[in-house]
Amino acid sequence: MIQFQALAQTYGTPLYVYDFDAMKEQFESLKEAFRGRKSILAYAVKANSNLSVIKHFAQLGSGADCVSIGEVRRALMAGVPKYRILFSGVGKRDDEIREAIQSDILYINLESEGELSRVEAIAKELGVKARISIRVNPNIDPQTHPYISTGLHDNKFGVEIDAAKRMYIHAKNSDNLDAVGIHFHIGSQLTQLEPIYEAAVIVADLLRSLQAIDIELKFFDIGGGLGVRYNDETTITPYDYAQAILGALKGIDVTIICEPGRFLTANAGYFLTKVLYEKQNGAKRFVVVDGAMNDLIRPSLYNAYHRIEAVGKTSEATPVDVVGPVCESGDFLAKNYPLPAMEHNDLLVVHSAGAYGFGMGSNYNTRGRSAEIAVENGEARIIRARETFEDLIALEREYL
Ligand SMILES: *Cc1c(COP(=O)(O)O)cnc(C)c1O
Repeated sequence: MIQFQALAQTYGTPLYVYDFDAMKEQFESLKEAFRGRKSILAYAVKANSNLSVIKHFAQLGSGADCVSIGEVRRALMAGVPKYRILFSGVGKRDDEIREAIQSDILYINLESEGELSRVEAIAKELGVKARISIRVNPNIDPQTHPYISTGLHDNKFGVEIDAAKRMYIHAKNSDNLDAVGIHFHIGSQLTQLEPIYEAAVIVADLLRSLQAIDIELKFFDIGGGLGVRYNDETTITPYDYAQAILGALKGIDVTIICEPGRFLTANAGYFLTKVLYEKQNGAKRFVVVDGAMNDLIRPSLYNAYHRIEAVGKTSEATPVDVVGPVCESGDFLAKNYPLPAMEHNDLLVVHSAGAYGFGMGSNYNTRGRSAEIAVENGEARIIRARETFEDLIALEREYL
């Protein structure tokens, strides 16, 4: 049991708390599902990019899936071996491509023919062969929130099958490209296995047709997206997930790469916030708290549900909007959520906040970002200090 009240007392609120033991359990359950197969779990750094979190996974043998050169640098700093680092994302600047090639990471995931040309040109300048993989858009509806669907032609991600084929053939004939992998990632918070299986079949078929023309790839990169339980969702078990992928591959000898983000960190994270006061506007009840959309934007952005626990409160719960101090009507952590009567300084714990929480934060309304705390083997330690006002204005000029 994490001592939320004591942590809030010691470190103040709003506060992010991560259960490192729970993260480890999630990692190991997924690793176990692919046991006996050549596989790499490459933690999707964007889910929670704190260096200590990345380091925690690196020590368990994780790789890193990065979507900016900044994330690649974080992964290297946190001790992820370069041969387990991937660089994905729909738009990469030339300087990012150059640095990724020079860092000698496992491969760059390409998402367009334009990007293939840029990588080839930069590798040529550097006089090297760049390792690449191509993200295929299999045009499968992942049945998730439209903002986190990525595997439909309507989404900006990846290339269609025919374009992917052209790109592999181009790479085969290039002195500066070494195609080593194939990639798909159809969306996030996936709770249905069927679309994942269908996408895997489509991409495995492409892999076979490439083999038939002497293009041999080593890595079958199935992306991330495994959903977690926020409320009452039924989720995919690691075992069923792995079996579906293996079923689609039907014995093709490749190393499977999986890029889990949310699955590893979401339910290991908690966002602690204190009640400032209750108020009533007509019939409508509000609890105003010290945490806001700049700390945790998922409710505002996706209408996401997070379970909220009123620590030590037992009186009857009635529906309330839990809102922050930010000057936006979209600033809420929950709507019509059943909570007991709350008083000044009561503590709320927002659950499932370990993925896309802190990392999506901002300084909107000149609010410093929360501190981040790791709890491991019953011990708490600070892994990021609370931002001060001085931190927020440090880069501003000419104000005197
Ligand atoms: C975001 C992302 C992931 C991780 O997604 P989760 O839903 O957090 O598992 C994996 N791969 C790519 C390419 C991504 O963009």
